[in-house]
Formats: sequence, C-alpha cells, structure tokens
Amino acid sequence: MKVLIIGAGLGGLSLAQALRRANIPFEIFERDKTPFDRPQGYRLHLDGDAINTVHEILPPELLTLFKETSYSTEPYTSIMDPKSLRVVKRLLTRDDLGTGMWPPTDPEATPVHANVDRAVLRRILLTGLDEYIQFGKQFERYETIGEDKVTVHFADGSSAIGSVVVGADGVNSRVRRQRAPTCTTMDAGITAIYGRLPLSALRELGPKEALEDIFLIAIDQRKLFLGLGSVIFPTLPDEAAKKLSTKNAMHAQESYAVCIVGGRHEYFPENVHSVPSAELQDVAAGLVDEWSGNAAPLLRAADPDSFFTVRMRTSVPSTLDSPTNVTLLGDSIHSMTPSLGRGANLAMRHGALLARHLKKVAAGEGSIAAELGRYEKSMTGYGFQVVREAAQMGQQRMAQNSLETRA
Ligand SMILES: Cc1cc2nc3c(=O)[nH]c(=O)nc-3n(C[C@H](O)[C@H](O)[C@H](O)COP(=O)(O)OP(=O)(O)OC[C@H]3O[C@@H](n4cnc5c(N)ncnc54)[C@H](O)[C@@H]3O)c2cc1C
Repeated sequence: MKVLIIGAGLGGLSLAQALRRANIPFEIFERDKTPFDRPQGYRLHLDGDAINTVHEILPPELLTLFKETSYSTEPYTSIMDPKSLRVVKRLLTRDDLGTGMWPPTDPEATPVHANVDRAVLRRILLTGLDEYIQFGKQFERYETIGEDKVTVHFADGSSAIGSVVVGADGVNSRVRRQRAPTCTTMDAGITAIYGRLPLSALRELGPKEALEDIFLIAIDQRKLFLGLGSVIFPTLPDEAAKKLSTKNAMHAQESYAVCIVGGRHEYFPENVHSVPSAELQDVAAGLVDEWSGNAAPLLRAADPDSFFTVRMRTSVPSTLDSPTNVTLLGDSIHSMTPSLGRGANLAMRHGALLARHLKKVAAGEGSIAAELGRYEKSMTGYGFQVVREAAQMGQQRMAQNSLETRA
C-alpha cells in the first residue's frame, strides 16, 4: 500500500508522521515552493484533540520539542470591556472529555490547553519528512485505475501512482471538488486583520490575563472585535531545537502575542486584502479608535510588518458519497471559522485517526474501502458537529453568516 498525501499543512503532516511511525509507505505533495511561502498566522490554540494527537504520532525527541515550545495557558477565554480592556468575565473553555474530544491514548497526554506558534509546530511536524515530501507540486486531478490504484496529476505535467489518495489541501481543496463535488464552502461574512505584538506592549497596555489565558476578546455594539492571545515559549524555539540530535533548525524568535481585529466585511475598506502591512495596522487601529481606551494604542505598538488579512470561509455540513480509495481530512472537508480555535485540532486528530485505519489495511485486517468508510463516518460526524458549533459562536460574537442560509 502506498498513500499519496496532497498538502503539507498541519493535517497532512500529522498523517505523515503517524504513517512514518507505522512504516506505511507514503509521499507528500505540496503546492508551495517552500514550507513557509505564505503568512499563515501566528498563535494557534491547541486543545485535547491536538495534544493527544502529538502524543500518539510524534517520536519522543519531537514530543519533547513540542512540550518545550508550547505555552500551557489557564483554561479561560476572557471577555474584556472594549473601553477599559479590563476583563469582565473569564469563561471556562471546554477542556473536558465529555464533549467529543479524544480520550488520551497516552497517560501523560491529559488534555490541557496550549498556545503554540504555528510555524514552530509545522517545523516540528516536518522534521524527518524531507525524503518523503516534494514542494512545488500543485495537484490538479486524479484518475482511479481499477480498485486499488489511483494516479494523481500535477500542474507541472508530472504524475504519481498510489493505492490511497488523501486530500489534505485546505479550504479550497481541489481533491474535494473531484471526490465530493456536493460538499461546498460559503463566505462567513467576516474579515479579520492579524498582527504580532511584543509582550512588553501587552504588559504595559493590556490586562494581566492576556499573559495567562487562552484568548481574550472585546466586542462592541457593531460586533466588531479585538482578540489577544499570547505565546510565551517555556524555552525559545531555536534553543530547544539545538538540543535535538536531528538538529532541526528553528528561527530565533521571542515570545509574543497575536492581535486580531475582525468583523463583518462592510466595516473594512474594499481593497483591504491588497493593502500593505503598515496600512493594515492603521485600518485595524482606526476601527477601534472610537473605543477611546488602550485598544488602538495597543495595535499601534504591534510590529508594523506583521499584519495580514483573512477573509473567513466555512464548510457547509454535508455527507460524503460511498467510500472510494480517495479521502479527505482537515480543512479540505470541514473548515470552520476560528471562533472556537478548533480547526487545526480537528485536522491533526483526523490525520492520526486516518492512520489508525490505514494501519488495519496494512495489517490485512480490512479493505481500503471499508476502513476509509469507517474513518469518513467518524470524521464527518465529529467534524461537521464542530463546524456547526463554531458557526453558532461566530454568529453570536461577530455576526458570522448563518449556515442555514446555505444548508
Ligand atoms: C488566522 C487563523 C487562525 C487560526 N487559529 C486557530 C487556532 O487557534 N486553533 C485551531 O485549532 N485552528 C485555528 N485555525 C484553523 C487552522 O489553521 C486550520 O483549520 C488548519 O490549518 C487546517 O489544517 P489543514 O492541514 O487541513 O489545512 P492547511 O493548513 O490549510 O494546509 C493545506 C496545505 O495544502 C496545500 N495545498 C493547497 N492546495 C494544494 C494543491 N492543489 N496541491 C498541493 N498542495 C496544496 C497548501 O499550500 C497547504 O500547505 C486558524 C486559522 C486561521 C486562518
């Protein structure tokens, strides 16, 4: 059996690490020319799903690197008053096992909350995969040949043959368009501007909980929001990486916080997705100027080169047709707005889950179609449930478009 993974994001790489541990042959094809071609965000909140996953898929040395660079936060999402930026409520984020999260497969992997740096996590997941990954390979289409062979074709005219194809190619997945043309995504109605803030500015101008909690959010009467979330590395990533025998290089960087200003598209200039970083900083600060407290000064204290925009989309919950030897994981099938901070958690969990089923095929305990069918039933059930929950929270907090308008 050979598995062809399309996309080297967090989900595709989690699957790859799990397959490598199980000695199942695989190859990864990534469209970008290098791993860090595009800005993909700064802080990521990881919950029990991702934390259990890394315990299951990573070799011990990489797990240590993960722990040394992950900031264990207090389990709260805090609500700030927009004017004073004081915390008025600390909400317990769901961190128990009763709401669908995976029970730990490793006794040490008790679900806790962690704020991590996305690029650091991706670099950890990329470690040891050099010989299996090809960059600059844009998937175009696949062709099934009989029951157990699939050819994938790339934009450069090349192709590859495997027995299973996994679309891990994100929200605009081309694999999904062919495998599940009725599964669609919709505009969530929300634009957000992201930037990176030095911790010194947060200490001076933000509430103390911004250095402790998972995330803090202030929302005004327009449902325009300011979000803050810090990543305080227990060991700086470059220093933690130096201790590894694999000598996985990490860029030197300090601890920081992410700052986000988001809301309905109408509040943002029409050309917002094409303006340079420093102008985005002005737009973000201008949007919260009327709060007349520390919000705008805080945004002005951020790194002027760090700003970028996201136009949010969400999947419309649906079902997959009968299983074939082509399947999907992560945002390619269940993308969601980041209102619960769970998309990466699901992408990683589903990478590990799919590997469990592929191990059964490799051990001769099930056919490809039967195991992918079981995986898809579990993955779509849980994944779309979280898509709905994220949409509800998004509607409440930032006036996200209702899923019902498209379902
Ligand atoms: C700003 C922001 C903040 C977020 N914060 C959180 C958070 O705190 N917690 C959380 O859990 N989630 C968060 N999310 C969501 C999370 O980032 C995604 O759910 C997660 O990255 C999905 O992983 P993935 O591997 O499925 O897709 P991606 O990470 O999007 O990876 C897809 C990969 O496929 C590649 N690709 C695309 N098309 C092709 C093609 N045709 N051929 C080959 N390769 C292709 C892409 O280049 C990419 O590398 C956030 C998202 C954003 C945008």
